Order: sequence, then structure tokens, then C-alpha cells
Amino acid sequence: MKRDIRQIIAQLTLEEKAGLCSGLNFWHTKAIERLNIPSVMVTDGPHGLRKQSGSSDHLGLLDSVPATCFPSAAGLACSWDVELVQEVGVALGEECQAENVAVLLGPGANIKRSPLCGRNFEYFSEDPYLSTEMAAAHINGVQSQGVGTSLKHFAVNNQEHRRMTVDAIVDERTLREIYLASFEGAVIKAQPWTVMSSYNQVNGAFASENSRLLTDILKREWGHEGFVVSDWGAVNERVAGLAAGLELEMPSSNGAGDRKIVDAVNAGQLSIEMLNDAVERILTVVFKAVDNKKENAVYDAAAHHLLAKKVAAESIVLLKNEQSLLPLQKNGAVAVIGAFAETPRYQGGGSSHIKPTKLDSTLAEIIQTAGASAQVTYAQGFRLEDDTADDELIREAVTAASQADAAVLFLGLPDRFESEGYDRQHLSIPGNQLALIEAVAEVQPNIVVVLSNGSPISMPWLGKAKAVLEGYLGGQAVGSAIAALLFGDANPSGKLAETFPVKLSDNPSYLNFPGEGDRVEYREGIFVGYRYYDTKEIEPLFPFGFGLSYTSFAYSNLSVDRTTLTDQETVTVTVDVTNTGPIAGKEIVQLYVRDSVSAVIRPEKELKGFSKIALQPGERKTVSFSLSKRAFAYYDVALQDWHVETGDFDILVGASSRDIVCTQTVHVQSTVTIRKQVTLNTTFGDLLQDPTRAGLANQMLQQFSEGGGIMSSMMEDAPEMMTAMLNFMPLRAIAMFSQGAVPEEAILAIVAQMNAAESL
Ligand code: BGC
Repeated sequence: MKRDIRQIIAQLTLEEKAGLCSGLNFWHTKAIERLNIPSVMVTDGPHGLRKQSGSSDHLGLLDSVPATCFPSAAGLACSWDVELVQEVGVALGEECQAENVAVLLGPGANIKRSPLCGRNFEYFSEDPYLSTEMAAAHINGVQSQGVGTSLKHFAVNNQEHRRMTVDAIVDERTLREIYLASFEGAVIKAQPWTVMSSYNQVNGAFASENSRLLTDILKREWGHEGFVVSDWGAVNERVAGLAAGLELEMPSSNGAGDRKIVDAVNAGQLSIEMLNDAVERILTVVFKAVDNKKENAVYDAAAHHLLAKKVAAESIVLLKNEQSLLPLQKNGAVAVIGAFAETPRYQGGGSSHIKPTKLDSTLAEIIQTAGASAQVTYAQGFRLEDDTADDELIREAVTAASQADAAVLFLGLPDRFESEGYDRQHLSIPGNQLALIEAVAEVQPNIVVVLSNGSPISMPWLGKAKAVLEGYLGGQAVGSAIAALLFGDANPSGKLAETFPVKLSDNPSYLNFPGEGDRVEYREGIFVGYRYYDTKEIEPLFPFGFGLSYTSFAYSNLSVDRTTLTDQETVTVTVDVTNTGPIAGKEIVQLYVRDSVSAVIRPEKELKGFSKIALQPGERKTVSFSLSKRAFAYYDVALQDWHVETGDFDILVGASSRDIVCTQTVHVQSTVTIRKQVTLNTTFGDLLQDPTRAGLANQMLQQFSEGGGIMSSMMEDAPEMMTAMLNFMPLRAIAMFSQGAVPEEAILAIVAQMNAAESL
């Protein structure tokens, strides 16, 4: 419907305008009936709908209406399948329509800085490119149904410890290349209707009143058209927040925030134009929701459950499969062990915790999938409520395992180990599970471990398991997906979206997580995840991008359509991938870029493209990637822009960050020359590197070496050493070392000449 929002705003009183900038209650915006402004509902998110119809909380503790629980983001990202994630988004959008929800509070695009972050299960990856692509797909899916999203938590909210007060100190380049980049692509490509500002501070200013983040970068630079909503209770100073670009305060502040806005406008501390702009952004989204509302919408819960199964099956990662233990034969004897088989852990705790429409029992699904000729026994093995080993439960499990052909152990992190609100202290699974696997391994060599966890764990027991399936928190249909994978009805095709370190202290944030008091310094800089492990040559337990299949793939014919390009051009990269095994499967082809020689510090490699393809046995497909400036660029703090250093770049294509199969090199020519002013402290080395200044610098060197004095003779006696010394010698030193042969006035004249426009 066409309406003039500015005209509506012109009819609002100051109090009404201020009132629209905060919630009516926990989940609704305010209505103004006389102007037909409706109230709309926003609610969690991200991988299912948590609509509370009774009493409300933001911690996921109270009841909500049933909704499909899809795998949480940590699992979803392992699918590396943008179309599938978009399909999940569409399903979420349909459920929002059916439940009359205008905005779904998600997805979360925070980077997994430390595996300890209690909320990692809600985030996609340690890599900003993968994360932002997944977030964009999720947003596109939901919004295609006429429902908004809230990309959260903007920004640098990478720990739960002191999350409402902690100040994340991050240098500009790291901010841009890692933490903001994870939001940037999703904002630009998918235009989430809203963005949620995080609880924490970023470099000294609360995210909810950080004008650099909310206005300069989000709105101006990235062109975000929607509004910014505070995380629930994240507002510090309401007026400062509004001025910084935070339009909607949630939940209701019982009028306190609104009064402050009114007072500030009356006192001339906040301009009415700023308030009008905020109201316009809010009303634009509110009316968009209303205009896109589908009356009497319903959704097909059974179809969504099947989609949840498909997504889970595509996301689960096969980490190990010695002697091809998996898939299991359907006519053998299998001991299913571990409490998670009966009580699956399929979602995380906190605001994303939803009430599923249905929940698969993994054990029942295994029995059904294995079929009548299989013999399936079950033993609980451990209790979920505490960590102490129960000898009786272990004895039962050992007996079951000893009588079977294989034992499938369901292990992982109980609910209380990871959740919104607090971080983990270590990477271990509980002691009773460690004791169980030790005992079972004594009697059964064929052990399959199936894991339920939202974030990496350590695996001191890995040598005792022949096969490992990483299930993450796989949603309400994870049980049937696991059964299908265990018995070969589906072929694993997920790959890790994060590194599993051997031990916690290998993680780059280890020395600075979660910080001191309310200050956490991101001292590892851009070296997050595999950027660190690969550059530092630290062997991970499982690398970023890793995952096995029941079939095998071969890569060939990597080629580029050009070997030289400017940073304004694109290069197309193609590679052939063949299914060389006996069954159909899917491969996730990954493309990384390495800057072979660089004056700035850069990671060993960075992900710049990926594609998931399905291949029948023997089938070959050509995968194509297009790389442009951003694929080669770093963020140059002085330029305040992305910049490509002229030079060679390796294009690395392979099956994981540590399994690069083929390489090509391209030369990229920058179209931007970074010119620094020459001063008396500029070194010769820097001048000789600059083609427009090398001539004059050489002239000066000539004068210097021929001018007599001690330096001339040293130049003759030890030319290598002198050349090296000159490389790092500032111009001012020439006057002194040449002992008058090159006087300071002469140097100053050359400096002036070099800085003059004509020499540029
Ligand atoms: C969480 C958000 C959530 C909000 C509303 C907060 O505690 O950080 O992710 O959307 O509550 O439930």
C-alpha cells in the first residue's frame, strides 16, 4: 500500500515520536491508532521461532509456541550450502507469517574468536567470508517471505563473560577484515530489515551508542536502509544511542528512554530531524511488515521437519572413518551407547531455545533405519545431570558393546556446559563420558563416536574411535539424519566451519580471553582461526574446511582466464572435480588466496570462494569462481580503504584449508598508488622501492659514495654491508656520514623535489 511516511511523521507529537523509538513490551513495537500505525511483533531467532504468547523473558526459559528447530548456525554453516540455508530461511519466514511475527531476531554473524564462547553454537564461523555468505542466505530466505530479520550482535560480541559491560579493544584493520567483514557482506547483499546492536563496548563506546559503527559504517558506508534495534537491555544512554544511530530500544523501558528523548529535544540537545529520521526508519519497516503480511498463513510442519532432517544430514561432518567402518551394515549387531541417543542435545540454551514441533529419538530412528535384520541394543552409559562415572551404567555399556559388531557412542556437551550467558572453561567433555569410552574401547575395537556440541571439544580419546561424526546441535530431526548417515542412506557432506585445536592453549585468543575485568584486548589481531594455525604452522586436531565422505573426489584442470589483471578487473577461476568413488556424494570445493610477497603482515591464506556440488559416481563438473579486488585486498588503515598491493597472488583450490590440491598464480596490478610524503626520516630503501623516486635516490647515493670520507671507503671495502645499512638509513643520516659531501641543504632540496607535484 502506498503511504507517505513523512506525512504521517508530520502529524506525530514529540512524545509520540519518542514513544515509537522503544518497545511496547518485550516483543512488540508501539501502535498509534489515530494515525493507523500498527504494533508489530519481533521475536527470536535465529534457527527457529520462539514466540511467547504468555509471560515473556529474553532468556528462553519461559514457554513458547511450537516451531521447527533447525540446526543452529554452527551446524548450518558446516553445510557450506547457501541455497540450503536460504531454504531454511524461507521455512522460518513461513513460520513467522503463520505466527504473525514481523521480524525474526537473527541470524548471528559474530566471529568465533575462541572456542570457549558460550554462544558459538549460534554463530556460523571463524571465517568472515563464510559467515557473511551464510548470514546473507539466511536473511534472503526469511525476507523473501515478507518477514524481516535482525542481523546480530553488531559488533565484536565474541564472548558471554561480562557481555553487557566488556570493552572489546580491536585494532582497525582487524575490525574491518575480521569482525565487521562478517556483517558487511550480509548487510550489503541482503539488506536485513534490522540490525541488532550488541551489549558490549567496542573500543571505548557501547555498541548501542557507537556512532562510528551504527552511522558511519553501517548506514553511510554499507548503505543499511533499515533500523538498528538494541539487544534486549543494551541501551546505556538513550539519547546518546539515538544520536549514534540506534533507532529502536528493546524491550520497553517503561517510558524512561522516551522521556529522555523528549527532554533532550526540548533542551536543544537532540535535533528533531534526527528523531524524525529514526521514526522514519522504524515506520518504514513496520509498514513493510504490514504490507507483506499474508493473511491466514499456515505452514506445513511435516515438510519443515523433513527439511530439518535434510539440513542436518548435509551439515553433519564425518571427521574420521578408519577402515571405512562407516556406513554400518544393516544386518549386523550394533550397540548404541550414551544418554544422548535417547535424549538428544539438538539446540543450545538461552534466547534461541525453542519448543520443537516434533523431536526425533535417535535410538528409535536407528532401530527403524537399521531394519529388521539388524540387532540393536542400547545402554545409557552415563547420566546427563552430573559428571561422575556410574560403574553400573558403564558395566551395562561394556556388556552391550562386547556382544556387538560395533558400538556407536553418543557423546558431547550436556546443556549445562554451554549456553548464552556464560563461556566454557575448558574443551573437555564430562569425565563420565571419558570413562565410558575408555571402558568400551577395552572390549570393542569398532567404535563410532557421534558428537553433540555447539563448539569444538578436545578429543584425547580419538585414537580409540575408528569413526567420528560431528553432529553439532543438529535441530529436531538430527536423530533421523544421524541414522541415515550411520547406515549409508545418506552420504556425509558437511565440512568444518571452524578449526578444532588439539588443545585450548593453541587457540590464538588463549592469552587474552576473556580479558581482564571489563577490558578484552584482541591482541591476536587478524590471526583468528585458521589464519593463525596455518601461518604459525600449528597442526590442528581438525582443520577449517575439513570433512570426509563415503566417496572420494579428484581435482584437475585448475585454470584462470587471465594471469594478470588490475584491481578493477575480475579473474575467473575454474576447476574440474570428479567423483572417483562408488557412490553419489557432495564435495565442498574451497578457494583460498595467498599474497606471496607482501609489505604488510598477512595470513598464510584466506578463504575467498566455495561451492558445494553434487556428483554421481564417475561424474565430473566444472566449478567456477570469480575473484575481484576484495579477494586480494587487505584493509589499509592509512587509506581507510581496501587496498591491493601490486604483485603475485597464489590461488589455492582444495578440499580443506590443509588440503590444497591445485594452485595457480596471478599478478594483480593496483590502480591506487599509496604515496607517502618524503621527510628527512624516509629511508633509502623505501625510496628505491618507489619507481617515481628511485632515480633521485640513486643520484643521491652516487654523490654519497663518491664524495670521499669514511663512508666512501667502507662502500668499497664492504659493499654488501653498506648496501644493507643504506637500505634502512634515513636521509638525514647522509649529511653526517658523507662528512659534508652531501650537505643537509642538498638533501632538503631533493626531499622537496620528491614531494613536488611534478615528481609524482
Ligand atoms: C540476546 C539476543 C536476543 C534477545 C531477545 C538477548 O539476551 O542476546 O540474541 O535476540 O535477548 O531474546
